Amino acid sequence: MLDPNHLFDITVIGGGPVGMFAAYYAGMRKADVQIIESLPELGGQVATLYPEKEIFDVAGFKGITGAQLTANLAEQLAVFEPTTQLETSVKAILPQEDGTYILETSKGTTHTRGVLIAVGNGAFTPRKLAVDYQPEWENNYIHYFAKEMAQFKDQTVAVAGGGDSAIDWALMLEKVAKQVYIIHRRDQFRGLESSVDALMNSSIQIKTPFLIDGLTEVDHQLALSLNKMKSTDQEQLVVDKLLVNYGFISDTRILRDWGLTLNHHQVSVNQQMATNLPNVYAIGDIATYPGKVKLIASGFGEAPVAVTELLTKLYPEKRQPLHSTSIM
Ligand SMILES: Cc1cc2nc3c(=O)[nH]c(=O)nc-3n(C[C@H](O)[C@H](O)[C@H](O)COP(=O)(O)OP(=O)(O)OC[C@H]3O[C@@H](n4cnc5c(N)ncnc54)[C@H](O)[C@@H]3O)c2cc1C
Repeated sequence: MLDPNHLFDITVIGGGPVGMFAAYYAGMRKADVQIIESLPELGGQVATLYPEKEIFDVAGFKGITGAQLTANLAEQLAVFEPTTQLETSVKAILPQEDGTYILETSKGTTHTRGVLIAVGNGAFTPRKLAVDYQPEWENNYIHYFAKEMAQFKDQTVAVAGGGDSAIDWALMLEKVAKQVYIIHRRDQFRGLESSVDALMNSSIQIKTPFLIDGLTEVDHQLALSLNKMKSTDQEQLVVDKLLVNYGFISDTRILRDWGLTLNHHQVSVNQQMATNLPNVYAIGDIATYPGKVKLIASGFGEAPVAVTELLTKLYPEKRQPLHSTSIM
Protein backbone atom coordinates (compact mmCIF):
# COMPACT_ATOMS: atom_id res chain seq x y z
CA MET A 1 0.00 0.00 0.00
CA LEU A 2 1.22 3.48 -0.81
CA ASP A 3 1.50 5.76 2.20
CA PRO A 4 0.78 9.30 0.92
CA ASN A 5 2.11 10.81 4.16
CA HIS A 6 5.58 9.32 3.98
CA LEU A 7 8.16 11.59 2.34
CA PHE A 8 10.79 9.46 0.60
CA ASP A 9 14.23 10.78 -0.33
CA ILE A 10 14.26 8.96 -3.65
CA THR A 11 11.58 7.21 -5.65
CA VAL A 12 12.82 4.96 -8.41
CA ILE A 13 10.21 4.61 -11.14
CA GLY A 14 10.73 1.28 -12.90
CA GLY A 15 12.05 -1.94 -11.41
CA GLY A 16 14.15 -3.21 -14.31
CA PRO A 17 17.79 -4.17 -13.69
CA VAL A 18 18.86 -0.52 -13.67
CA GLY A 19 16.10 0.62 -11.29
CA MET A 20 16.84 -2.34 -9.00
CA PHE A 21 20.53 -1.53 -8.82
CA ALA A 22 19.81 2.19 -8.37
CA ALA A 23 17.47 1.45 -5.45
CA TYR A 24 20.11 -0.80 -3.88
CA TYR A 25 22.79 1.83 -4.35
CA ALA A 26 20.55 4.55 -2.89
CA GLY A 27 19.91 2.28 0.10
CA MET A 28 23.62 1.77 0.54
CA ARG A 29 24.04 5.55 0.56
CA LYS A 30 21.48 5.60 3.39
CA ALA A 31 18.68 7.22 1.38
CA ASP A 32 15.06 6.46 2.25
CA VAL A 33 14.17 4.88 -1.09
CA GLN A 34 11.17 3.26 -2.73
CA ILE A 35 10.87 1.48 -6.05
CA ILE A 36 7.65 1.47 -8.07
CA GLU A 37 7.12 -1.14 -10.80
CA SER A 38 4.11 -1.55 -13.04
CA LEU A 39 4.58 -5.30 -13.65
CA PRO A 40 3.87 -7.96 -11.01
CA GLU A 41 7.61 -8.70 -10.67
CA LEU A 42 10.90 -6.85 -10.71
CA GLY A 43 13.47 -7.38 -13.45
CA GLY A 44 12.16 -5.45 -16.46
CA GLN A 45 13.09 -6.67 -19.93
CA VAL A 46 15.68 -9.08 -18.55
CA ALA A 47 13.18 -10.98 -16.41
CA THR A 48 10.19 -10.65 -18.69
CA LEU A 49 11.51 -10.87 -22.22
CA TYR A 50 14.53 -13.15 -22.00
CA PRO A 51 14.85 -14.85 -18.60
CA GLU A 52 16.55 -17.94 -19.99
CA LYS A 53 18.77 -16.20 -22.51
CA GLU A 54 22.40 -15.84 -21.52
CA ILE A 55 23.86 -12.36 -21.20
CA PHE A 56 27.59 -12.08 -21.83
CA ASP A 57 28.34 -8.41 -21.27
CA VAL A 58 27.59 -7.80 -17.61
CA ALA A 59 30.83 -7.18 -15.73
CA GLY A 60 31.92 -10.00 -13.49
CA PHE A 61 29.95 -12.75 -15.25
CA LYS A 62 31.26 -14.88 -18.10
CA GLY A 63 27.63 -15.50 -18.90
CA ILE A 64 24.48 -15.19 -16.83
CA THR A 65 20.84 -15.85 -17.68
CA GLY A 66 18.28 -13.07 -17.36
CA ALA A 67 16.57 -14.98 -14.56
CA GLN A 68 19.79 -15.46 -12.60
CA LEU A 69 20.82 -11.82 -13.02
CA THR A 70 17.38 -10.75 -11.76
CA ALA A 71 17.63 -13.13 -8.80
CA ASN A 72 21.08 -11.75 -7.94
CA LEU A 73 19.83 -8.16 -8.18
CA ALA A 74 16.83 -9.02 -5.98
CA GLU A 75 19.12 -10.61 -3.38
CA GLN A 76 21.35 -7.54 -3.39
CA LEU A 77 18.36 -5.20 -3.22
CA ALA A 78 16.93 -7.07 -0.23
CA VAL A 79 19.95 -6.01 1.87
CA PHE A 80 18.39 -2.57 2.38
CA GLU A 81 14.75 -3.65 2.15
CA PRO A 82 13.57 -0.66 0.14
CA THR A 83 9.83 -0.07 -0.03
CA THR A 84 8.74 -1.91 -3.17
CA GLN A 85 5.43 -1.24 -4.88
CA LEU A 86 4.58 -3.80 -7.56
CA GLU A 87 1.72 -3.66 -10.05
CA THR A 88 1.74 0.09 -9.61
CA SER A 89 2.17 2.44 -12.57
CA VAL A 90 3.32 5.99 -12.15
CA LYS A 91 0.99 8.20 -14.14
CA ALA A 92 2.26 11.70 -13.35
CA ILE A 93 4.99 13.52 -11.44
CA LEU A 94 3.67 16.72 -9.95
CA PRO A 95 6.16 19.36 -8.71
CA GLN A 96 5.22 20.93 -5.37
CA GLU A 97 6.01 24.46 -4.17
CA ASP A 98 8.51 23.18 -1.59
CA GLY A 99 10.54 21.43 -4.32
CA THR A 100 9.23 17.92 -3.56
CA TYR A 101 7.10 15.82 -5.90
CA ILE A 102 3.78 14.09 -5.56
CA LEU A 103 3.62 11.04 -7.82
CA GLU A 104 0.23 9.98 -9.06
CA THR A 105 0.06 6.23 -9.52
CA SER A 106 -2.50 3.62 -10.46
CA LYS A 107 -2.82 2.91 -6.72
CA GLY A 108 -2.87 6.39 -5.19
CA THR A 109 -0.29 9.07 -4.53
CA THR A 110 3.14 9.07 -2.99
CA HIS A 111 5.47 11.89 -1.89
CA THR A 112 9.17 12.14 -2.65
CA ARG A 113 12.05 14.62 -2.61
CA GLY A 114 13.81 13.19 -5.65
CA VAL A 115 12.88 10.99 -8.60
CA LEU A 116 14.93 8.50 -10.59
CA ILE A 117 13.19 7.58 -13.82
CA ALA A 118 14.25 4.08 -14.87
CA VAL A 119 11.29 3.08 -17.03
CA GLY A 120 13.36 1.47 -19.80
CA ASN A 121 11.37 1.40 -23.00
CA GLY A 122 8.25 2.19 -21.03
CA ALA A 123 5.44 -0.20 -20.44
CA PHE A 124 6.03 -2.94 -23.00
CA THR A 125 3.69 -5.43 -24.61
CA PRO A 126 4.44 -8.05 -27.26
CA ARG A 127 3.41 -7.36 -30.87
CA LYS A 128 0.69 -9.94 -31.36
CA LEU A 129 -0.23 -12.25 -34.23
CA ALA A 130 -2.48 -10.51 -36.73
CA VAL A 131 -4.86 -13.48 -36.96
CA ASP A 132 -7.95 -14.31 -34.96
CA TYR A 133 -7.71 -16.88 -32.21
CA GLN A 134 -9.46 -17.80 -28.98
CA PRO A 135 -8.07 -15.80 -26.03
CA GLU A 136 -7.68 -18.98 -23.97
CA TRP A 137 -5.18 -20.33 -26.51
CA GLU A 138 -2.68 -17.82 -25.17
CA ASN A 139 -0.33 -19.45 -22.68
CA ASN A 140 -1.85 -22.80 -23.63
CA TYR A 141 -0.70 -23.01 -27.26
CA ILE A 142 0.45 -19.49 -28.05
CA HIS A 143 3.26 -17.82 -26.16
CA TYR A 144 4.77 -14.38 -26.45
CA PHE A 145 7.36 -14.92 -23.72
CA ALA A 146 9.38 -18.08 -23.22
CA LYS A 147 9.62 -17.94 -19.46
CA GLU A 148 10.46 -21.56 -18.70
CA MET A 149 12.09 -23.92 -21.14
CA ALA A 150 10.52 -26.84 -19.26
CA GLN A 151 7.10 -26.07 -20.73
CA PHE A 152 8.46 -26.83 -24.22
CA LYS A 153 10.13 -30.10 -23.24
CA ASP A 154 9.48 -32.88 -25.78
CA GLN A 155 6.98 -30.66 -27.61
CA THR A 156 6.70 -29.75 -31.26
CA VAL A 157 7.26 -26.02 -31.28
CA ALA A 158 7.05 -23.38 -33.98
CA VAL A 159 8.84 -20.09 -33.50
CA ALA A 160 7.46 -17.19 -35.54
CA GLY A 161 9.83 -14.36 -36.34
CA GLY A 162 13.11 -13.69 -38.09
CA GLY A 163 15.15 -11.51 -35.76
CA ASP A 164 17.91 -12.27 -33.29
CA SER A 165 15.56 -13.16 -30.45
CA ALA A 166 13.49 -15.53 -32.58
CA ILE A 167 16.66 -17.33 -33.73
CA ASP A 168 18.04 -17.46 -30.19
CA TRP A 169 14.78 -18.89 -28.91
CA ALA A 170 14.69 -21.50 -31.67
CA LEU A 171 18.26 -22.55 -30.84
CA MET A 172 17.49 -22.75 -27.11
CA LEU A 173 14.33 -24.75 -27.78
CA GLU A 174 16.21 -27.18 -30.00
CA LYS A 175 17.90 -28.46 -26.82
CA VAL A 176 14.63 -29.43 -25.10
CA ALA A 177 11.88 -29.70 -27.70
CA LYS A 178 11.04 -32.74 -29.82
CA GLN A 179 11.08 -30.67 -33.03
CA VAL A 180 11.47 -26.96 -33.67
CA TYR A 181 10.29 -25.01 -36.71
CA ILE A 182 11.06 -21.39 -37.43
CA ILE A 183 8.63 -19.46 -39.61
CA HIS A 184 9.71 -16.17 -41.18
CA ARG A 185 8.08 -14.12 -43.90
CA ARG A 186 11.40 -13.38 -45.64
CA ASP A 187 14.08 -15.72 -46.96
CA GLN A 188 16.79 -13.86 -45.07
CA PHE A 189 16.98 -13.78 -41.29
CA ARG A 190 17.88 -10.55 -39.46
CA GLY A 191 20.13 -12.16 -36.86
CA LEU A 192 23.82 -12.01 -36.08
CA GLU A 193 25.85 -13.94 -38.64
CA SER A 194 27.01 -16.44 -36.02
CA SER A 195 23.39 -17.05 -34.89
CA VAL A 196 22.16 -17.48 -38.46
CA ASP A 197 25.04 -19.94 -39.10
CA ALA A 198 24.09 -21.89 -35.98
CA LEU A 199 20.47 -21.94 -37.18
CA MET A 200 21.46 -23.22 -40.62
CA ASN A 201 23.55 -25.99 -39.04
CA SER A 202 20.87 -27.03 -36.57
CA SER A 203 18.04 -29.54 -36.74
CA ILE A 204 15.52 -26.68 -36.78
CA GLN A 205 13.21 -26.85 -39.79
CA ILE A 206 13.08 -23.54 -41.61
CA LYS A 207 9.83 -22.39 -43.14
CA THR A 208 10.49 -19.32 -45.32
CA PRO A 209 9.06 -17.16 -46.78
CA PHE A 210 5.83 -17.96 -44.95
CA LEU A 211 3.34 -15.97 -42.94
CA ILE A 212 0.87 -17.48 -40.48
CA ASP A 213 -2.56 -16.55 -41.78
CA GLY A 214 -4.84 -18.81 -39.76
CA LEU A 215 -4.97 -20.90 -36.58
CA THR A 216 -7.24 -23.77 -35.61
CA GLU A 217 -7.33 -26.18 -32.72
CA VAL A 218 -7.02 -29.84 -33.73
CA ASP A 219 -6.99 -32.62 -31.12
CA HIS A 220 -5.28 -30.56 -28.42
CA GLN A 221 -2.78 -29.20 -30.89
CA LEU A 222 -2.57 -26.01 -32.90
CA ALA A 223 -2.80 -26.16 -36.69
CA LEU A 224 -1.03 -23.26 -38.38
CA SER A 225 -2.09 -22.26 -41.83
CA LEU A 226 0.99 -20.94 -43.61
CA ASN A 227 0.77 -18.74 -46.66
CA LYS A 228 3.81 -18.59 -48.93
CA MET A 229 4.57 -14.92 -49.51
CA LYS A 230 3.65 -13.47 -52.91
CA SER A 231 1.89 -16.68 -53.89
CA THR A 232 -1.30 -18.59 -53.22
CA ASP A 233 0.57 -21.66 -51.93
CA GLN A 234 -0.64 -22.84 -48.53
CA GLU A 235 0.84 -25.32 -46.08
CA GLN A 236 -0.37 -26.64 -42.79
CA LEU A 237 1.82 -27.22 -39.77
CA VAL A 238 0.51 -28.85 -36.59
CA VAL A 239 2.38 -28.03 -33.38
CA ASP A 240 1.99 -28.25 -29.63
CA LYS A 241 3.20 -24.70 -29.04
CA LEU A 242 3.69 -21.56 -31.03
CA LEU A 243 6.18 -19.01 -29.72
CA VAL A 244 5.68 -15.66 -31.40
CA ASN A 245 8.56 -13.25 -31.52
CA TYR A 246 7.41 -10.30 -33.59
CA GLY A 247 9.06 -7.80 -31.27
CA PHE A 248 7.55 -5.58 -28.63
CA ILE A 249 5.60 -2.38 -28.67
CA SER A 250 6.77 -0.08 -25.96
CA ASP A 251 4.81 2.86 -24.80
CA THR A 252 6.58 5.89 -23.45
CA ARG A 253 3.74 8.27 -24.40
CA ILE A 254 2.98 8.89 -20.75
CA LEU A 255 6.34 10.67 -20.39
CA ARG A 256 5.16 13.42 -22.74
CA ASP A 257 3.00 14.80 -19.95
CA TRP A 258 5.69 14.81 -17.28
CA GLY A 259 7.25 18.12 -18.37
CA LEU A 260 10.52 16.44 -19.37
CA THR A 261 12.74 17.38 -22.28
CA LEU A 262 12.53 14.43 -24.62
CA ASN A 263 14.70 13.39 -27.54
CA HIS A 264 12.46 11.25 -29.69
CA HIS A 265 11.04 8.87 -27.08
CA GLN A 266 13.82 9.15 -24.54
CA VAL A 267 14.55 11.55 -21.71
CA SER A 268 17.45 13.93 -22.34
CA VAL A 269 19.92 14.06 -19.48
CA ASN A 270 23.23 15.78 -18.81
CA GLN A 271 26.47 14.12 -17.65
CA GLN A 272 25.07 13.78 -14.13
CA MET A 273 21.95 12.08 -15.52
CA ALA A 274 19.86 15.11 -14.52
CA THR A 275 16.75 15.93 -16.53
CA ASN A 276 15.41 19.45 -17.02
CA LEU A 277 13.30 19.09 -13.83
CA PRO A 278 14.99 19.79 -10.50
CA ASN A 279 15.89 16.62 -8.56
CA VAL A 280 14.55 14.40 -11.33
CA TYR A 281 17.12 12.08 -12.93
CA ALA A 282 16.83 9.45 -15.65
CA ILE A 283 18.93 6.30 -16.04
CA GLY A 284 19.00 3.10 -18.07
CA ASP A 285 17.36 2.63 -21.46
CA ILE A 286 15.06 5.63 -21.07
CA ALA A 287 17.91 8.13 -20.65
CA THR A 288 19.70 9.59 -23.62
CA TYR A 289 22.83 11.68 -24.10
CA PRO A 290 25.52 11.84 -26.79
CA GLY A 291 27.19 8.46 -27.08
CA LYS A 292 24.52 6.59 -25.13
CA VAL A 293 24.75 2.80 -25.41
CA LYS A 294 21.59 0.98 -24.35
CA LEU A 295 23.11 -1.81 -22.28
CA ILE A 296 22.60 -3.11 -18.78
CA ALA A 297 26.23 -2.27 -18.03
CA SER A 298 25.71 1.38 -19.05
CA GLY A 299 22.64 1.65 -16.81
CA PHE A 300 24.55 0.12 -13.90
CA GLY A 301 27.14 2.86 -14.36
CA GLU A 302 24.55 5.62 -14.63
CA ALA A 303 22.81 4.67 -11.36
CA PRO A 304 25.60 5.70 -8.93
CA VAL A 305 26.17 8.92 -10.88
CA ALA A 306 22.50 9.90 -10.56
CA VAL A 307 22.12 8.80 -6.92
CA THR A 308 25.31 10.58 -5.83
CA GLU A 309 24.34 13.78 -7.61
CA LEU A 310 20.77 13.66 -6.29
CA LEU A 311 21.86 13.07 -2.69
CA THR A 312 24.34 15.93 -2.94
CA LYS A 313 21.50 18.18 -4.11
CA LEU A 314 19.11 16.98 -1.39
CA TYR A 315 21.63 17.01 1.44
CA PRO A 316 24.48 19.41 0.52
CA GLU A 317 25.65 19.46 4.14
CA LYS A 318 26.24 15.70 4.23
CA ARG A 319 29.47 14.27 2.95
CA GLN A 320 29.13 10.56 2.49
CA PRO A 321 31.86 8.03 1.77
CA LEU A 322 31.84 6.92 -1.85
CA HIS A 323 33.43 3.48 -1.59
CA SER A 324 31.22 0.59 -0.55
CA THR A 325 34.24 -0.82 1.30
CA SER A 326 34.01 2.18 3.64
CA ILE A 327 30.21 2.14 3.98
CA MET A 328 29.33 -1.49 4.61
C1 LIG B 1 15.91 -9.84 -26.36
C2 LIG B 1 16.81 -8.85 -25.68
C3 LIG B 1 18.12 -9.18 -25.44
C4 LIG B 1 18.97 -8.27 -24.79
N1 LIG B 1 20.26 -8.65 -24.56
C5 LIG B 1 21.07 -7.81 -23.87
C6 LIG B 1 22.43 -8.18 -23.57
O1 LIG B 1 22.88 -9.25 -23.95
N2 LIG B 1 23.19 -7.29 -22.87
C7 LIG B 1 22.72 -6.07 -22.44
O2 LIG B 1 23.45 -5.33 -21.78
N3 LIG B 1 21.44 -5.69 -22.73
C8 LIG B 1 20.62 -6.52 -23.43
N4 LIG B 1 19.35 -6.12 -23.73
C9 LIG B 1 18.93 -4.77 -23.31
C10 LIG B 1 18.65 -4.74 -21.80
O3 LIG B 1 17.66 -5.68 -21.47
C11 LIG B 1 18.20 -3.32 -21.43
O4 LIG B 1 19.26 -2.43 -21.70
C12 LIG B 1 17.87 -3.27 -19.94
O5 LIG B 1 16.79 -4.12 -19.62
C13 LIG B 1 17.51 -1.82 -19.55
O6 LIG B 1 17.17 -1.84 -18.20
P1 LIG B 1 16.23 -0.71 -17.60
O7 LIG B 1 16.12 -1.05 -16.14
O8 LIG B 1 16.71 0.61 -18.01
O9 LIG B 1 14.82 -0.91 -18.32
P2 LIG B 1 13.81 -2.15 -18.39
O10 LIG B 1 14.50 -3.44 -18.30
O11 LIG B 1 12.98 -1.88 -19.61
O12 LIG B 1 12.90 -1.97 -17.11
C14 LIG B 1 12.05 -0.87 -16.99
C15 LIG B 1 10.92 -1.21 -16.02
O13 LIG B 1 10.12 -0.05 -15.79
C16 LIG B 1 8.76 -0.46 -15.68
N5 LIG B 1 7.92 0.69 -16.00
C17 LIG B 1 7.75 1.28 -17.21
N6 LIG B 1 6.91 2.33 -17.11
C18 LIG B 1 6.56 2.40 -15.78
C19 LIG B 1 5.70 3.28 -15.02
N7 LIG B 1 5.09 4.31 -15.60
N8 LIG B 1 5.54 3.03 -13.70
C20 LIG B 1 6.17 2.01 -13.08
N9 LIG B 1 6.99 1.15 -13.76
C21 LIG B 1 7.18 1.36 -15.07
C22 LIG B 1 8.64 -1.57 -16.71
O14 LIG B 1 7.55 -2.42 -16.42
C23 LIG B 1 9.99 -2.29 -16.55
O15 LIG B 1 9.92 -3.34 -15.62
C24 LIG B 1 18.49 -7.00 -24.39
C25 LIG B 1 17.15 -6.65 -24.63
C26 LIG B 1 16.32 -7.56 -25.27
C27 LIG B 1 14.89 -7.18 -25.52
